[in-house]
Amino acid sequence: MTETVLPASVASVFEEVIRRNPGEGEFHQAVREVLESLGPVVAKHPEYADAEVIRRLCEPERQVIFRVPWTDDAGRVQLNRGFRVEFNSALGPYKGGLRFHPSVYLGIVKFLGFEQIFKNSLTGLPIGGAKGGSDFDPKGRSDAEVMRFCQSFMIELYRHLGEHTDVPAGDIGVGTREIGYLFGQYKRITNRFESGVLTGKGLTWGGSQVRTEATGYGAVFFVDEILRTAGESFEGRRAIVSGSGNVAIYAIEKIHELGGRVVACSDSNGYIVDEAGIDLDLLKDIKDVRRGRISEYAAQRPGAVSVPGGVIWDVPTDIALPCATQNELGENGAAALIRGGCRVVAEGANMPTTPGAVRALRAAGVRFAPGKAVNAGGVATSALEMQQNASRDSWSFEYTEQRLAEIVRSIHDRCLETAESYGAPGDYVAGANIAGFTRVADAMLAQGVV
Ligand code: GLU
Repeated sequence: MTETVLPASVASVFEEVIRRNPGEGEFHQAVREVLESLGPVVAKHPEYADAEVIRRLCEPERQVIFRVPWTDDAGRVQLNRGFRVEFNSALGPYKGGLRFHPSVYLGIVKFLGFEQIFKNSLTGLPIGGAKGGSDFDPKGRSDAEVMRFCQSFMIELYRHLGEHTDVPAGDIGVGTREIGYLFGQYKRITNRFESGVLTGKGLTWGGSQVRTEATGYGAVFFVDEILRTAGESFEGRRAIVSGSGNVAIYAIEKIHELGGRVVACSDSNGYIVDEAGIDLDLLKDIKDVRRGRISEYAAQRPGAVSVPGGVIWDVPTDIALPCATQNELGENGAAALIRGGCRVVAEGANMPTTPGAVRALRAAGVRFAPGKAVNAGGVATSALEMQQNASRDSWSFEYTEQRLAEIVRSIHDRCLETAESYGAPGDYVAGANIAGFTRVADAMLAQGVV
């Protein structure tokens, strides 16, 4: 499918982004997706162009790249690269996760940091946008190796962090275990029990209820709102959820709670189909406890089928949630989903759908909602964790989940209202981009040329 033409008012900004950030394809893609929505905004608000708000937004405020040496269990010296891109602090301290995965390089961290600005803005909470990580691969590493890596990573990163400065959390490859090692090292270096410096902490040492579940639950609350808007619900619906990590697991849990049935999930080696509905206890045991592969699920569950090397989008479904990683759903996948009767696609991961796939889905009348709106429940709950840390309080699961649900509902409504007011009714992409952008842009205008 052919590319959409960029509005002339932002085309030169995009050219500059490409020129200044060579070889960073994912970053270019993320910027382009936002700029495509901004033509009508710039037309209505010439003050944004006058103050070069969009150009400034596309340039990170600070980028840190550092060496992370560590010693493996065999006594060999290993070397990785660490990143933190502090993209925008107009709305609050830099906030965003850390990703440990061999694919991580500056372009991935920048795309994620850029998305995070708009996502965090959409939550309505006081958080700026950032992202970080490393090309370290935790897969197959012992706990002791992961700990030594995290300690070495934090020896450099700590100087850039602080509860009012920059507050990392998890992402792919970074969960409670890694946050624990990172927090322990930060505390040792600074001699401060500064709870608000990291989110996703364990419940006994400053973590928040629902943070583990929040990204998956939030994504499903968002889909529930999409369905409700059309007078529908999850009751009796088939769904497929790609991935089998933290986001996927809790998305599946909430879909089942709301009366839907998730019949397939996946990992990087293939997918499994379970027509009876995914058995979550088994999935959690394989992925969370044993850190195993998804194919083990079919071996242990009568009636389930494993499709090694297969593409999950081939499974017929009403609703699809891509919850694995960027660009996992391309044009072939979109065509398969359309053939299989899919009516709603909502991004649980960050930018999992390629631009061509988005266009194909929308052209076929599939309701499509972008990650920066759909998965914002995760970082929103991180902001709730920061609130609890600041007041030395801890809230119940029920109360925290209720706050999360309210935030997601308001993001959904803000997307639709904004889309409507810019002449694009029902367009979640335009709504999320414009609503996310204007809140940051207004704060930047108010704060002057910085
Ligand atoms: N990595 C998550 C995201 O993509 C969470 C970030 C956070 O909690 O700071 O939004």
